[in-house]
Amino acid sequence: MQRIAIYPGSFDPITNGHLDIVFRASRLFDKTILAVAYHNEKDTLFNIQERVKLCKEATAMIDNVEVRQFKGLVVDFAKNVNSIVIVKGLRAVSDFEYELQLLLMNRKLYDEVETVFLTPRNCYLYLSSSIIKQVAKLGGDVSEYVPKSVKKALEEKYKNLDSDI
Ligand code: ADP
Repeated sequence: MQRIAIYPGSFDPITNGHLDIVFRASRLFDKTILAVAYHNEKDTLFNIQERVKLCKEATAMIDNVEVRQFKGLVVDFAKNVNSIVIVKGLRAVSDFEYELQLLLMNRKLYDEVETVFLTPRNCYLYLSSSIIKQVAKLGGDVSEYVPKSVKKALEEKYKNLDSDI
């Protein structure tokens, strides 16, 4: 039986912190599905197609990683793709309480899937998509923290937003 893991998130946009976790998961499981959550477009900077495209480009070199989008409960998506593991990234202690709450609820909803926490290398411990967007919006250099295609997409996005004002 293939051991399939899902790694769910918004990935708005994908960062090197997310990628660090995907790499680690790809070494542990036969297949890792990076699952991009659908959100109302007003709530994200990049729409679902853009987020999926950036994730696909960033993970193209890892053979056993697949990118899919999903809507609804993470556990329902896990069931649909026969996944036995939900991978979550744990950064600072601040992530823990909320993630523990999610784990217990997901377990209640569907007991067949295990949540596994992975921690990225130190330099990505305090990295989030939100901080990347804030810095990029103000014209700061984010190249150390995101793939090249994401950096370019952020520049395009904020250039267009500027011209809207
Ligand atoms: P965020 O907006 O916080 O970056 P996402 O919803 O896209 O988050 O995150 C998806 C998953 O990736 C979550 O499990 C989150 O904890 C994890 N994650 C996000 N950034 C990092 C990082 N820098 N290092 C490790 N895990 C991360």
